[in-house]
Amino acid sequence: MDPRVGPLSSFESPRFAQPATFMRLPHTRDLTGVDVAICGAPYDGGASYRPGTRLAPREVRNQSSLIRTWSYFLKVHPFERLRVVDYGDFDVPPIGIERAFEVIEAGASAIHDAGATPLVVGGDHSISLPLLRAAAKKHGPLALVQFDSHIDTWDEYFGGKYFHGSPFIRAIEEGLIRKDRFVQVGIRGPMYGEDEFDFHRAHGIRVVDIDGVKREGIDWTIDQIRGVMDDGPVYLTFDIDSVDPAYAPGTGTPEVGGLTSHEAQRLVRGLAGLNIVGADLVEVSPPFDGPGQITSLLAANLLFEMLCVLAVRRNSTRLNFPG
Ligand code: MN
Ligand code: MN
Repeated sequence: MDPRVGPLSSFESPRFAQPATFMRLPHTRDLTGVDVAICGAPYDGGASYRPGTRLAPREVRNQSSLIRTWSYFLKVHPFERLRVVDYGDFDVPPIGIERAFEVIEAGASAIHDAGATPLVVGGDHSISLPLLRAAAKKHGPLALVQFDSHIDTWDEYFGGKYFHGSPFIRAIEEGLIRKDRFVQVGIRGPMYGEDEFDFHRAHGIRVVDIDGVKREGIDWTIDQIRGVMDDGPVYLTFDIDSVDPAYAPGTGTPEVGGLTSHEAQRLVRGLAGLNIVGADLVEVSPPFDGPGQITSLLAANLLFEMLCVLAVRRNSTRLNFPG
């Protein structure tokens, strides 16, 4: 195997040894020949309630050490099909959200421009806006799959246009999203009023709320998502608070009554085959996590599922990875 673009062998180096990288991948900024760059955007200045998501990339790396390299359910070996590295983190300044967005957008653009797909760990959900800006600059307007308990299409907060509740209203205003190809999954929780969905009705945004998911099931939900998509470029954003706080307590704005870990895994797997050009996983807050760092552990595993989904799409080349 080429040690520059695949994980350490756990038969040569124990899983708990060496500095933590995502799934024990090599840490490098060299994107030559790289298909997927996993990286962190440790910024939580957009959080409206509990902070701490700036600490997620490190802890998710730590929890990812146990993940083995083959997907039993998708029957895919991502490192045979994709050359993957841990790109490290964007050095996002912790002060000033516009400046933070510039750094995140520039970092993601460098990955897109190198021909690689960025897979980004937040950070709060505000980071999706600069990531969408970078992806749309490369690929044009994007279809969007959002797993979340919250709609994140609120207009402003305390007079600020940018925070973790507004990335998708801004993205629509900026023309980054194909709004008729935008689906939100897992929506729930107390809100301010029915008029929160006026924006959805006006723009044709599809909502699959948590009652729909639980009543109709995961396969139905996957069908709904795929029905909104076409073969154009898709962006995937996974807010960990779509998962029930019983399974993912380490998050900034928890909402009870959500997905199980298993439902979350199946939903991500259900995206296999879509033309995903960028993805993020956001809102993991290690300071509020439960025993066993269960939220970061789930996040690491969902990243693995995303990687497998990308690998299913890339079904041609077989790289020399021995297992
Ligand atoms: Mn969100
Ligand atoms: Mn949320």
